[in-house]
Amino acid sequence: MSRILVAEDEMRIASFVEKGLGAAGFAVTVAADGPAAFAHAQSGQFDLMILDIGLPGRDGFDILRTLRGEGNPIAVIVLTARDSAADTLHGLEGGADDYMSKPFRFDELLARVRLRLKDGQPGPVGTLRVRGLELDLKTRRISVDGTMHDLSAREFALAEEFMRHPDQVLSREQLLSRVWGLDFDPGSNVVEVYVRYLRAKIGADRIETVRGMGYRLK
Ligand code: CA
Repeated sequence: MSRILVAEDEMRIASFVEKGLGAAGFAVTVAADGPAAFAHAQSGQFDLMILDIGLPGRDGFDILRTLRGEGNPIAVIVLTARDSAADTLHGLEGGADDYMSKPFRFDELLARVRLRLKDGQPGPVGTLRVRGLELDLKTRRISVDGTMHDLSAREFALAEEFMRHPDQVLSREQLLSRVWGLDFDPGSNVVEVYVRYLRAKIGADRIETVRGMGYRLK
C-alpha cells in the first residue's frame, strides 16, 4: 500500500483529502505545520507528499528545496493558490513533480497521485525511436545518432511528448499541460527554456518552431 503524506494546515482541506485518499486505498498521514511535514518527509516512510506552500513554521518551498538538496526522492505534488503563477514555477524548478492550484477537484488530485506513484514503479520497458533518436523509457537517456545523453526529468518528459507525436505541432498550452501538469499558462517562458535545453542535446534543427502555433519534432 502506498503511503501518502498530506502537508496542509487548513484542516477542512486536510481532512477532505485524507478521507478521499483513504477511501481510494492509500495510507494517509496529515502534517499540519512545516516542521512536522519536513520530519515526516525525511523519514523515508512515504511514497508521496501533497505539499501546501503556505504552512506555519516553515513554508513548502523551503521544505522542498531542503529535501531535494539532500537527494530525497519522495514524489511531491505542490498545492497552492491559483493566482500565484510565480509560485508555480518556483515549485517546479525547486523539484516538485507536479502542481495543482486551489481550489481543486478531488478526482483530479487522485489521478495525479496515481500517475506519480506509477512513475516510481519499475518503469515502462521500451524505446521510442524517431529518425536517429532513441529514447530509453527505463533509463531515461536519449541516444542521438548513436551518442548517449542524460536528460533531466523535465527534459525527458518533453522529449517523450515530442517523440510520441512526431511531425505534429504541439502548442505551448499542450506542452504545459502534458509535461508540466499546468492547466493554465503561468505567463513564463518555461516551455521555451526547456525546448532550448532539449535542442542543445538532440540538435537544434530537430525541433522546429511553428510561429504562433507551437513546436514540431521533425
Ligand atoms: Ca496553507
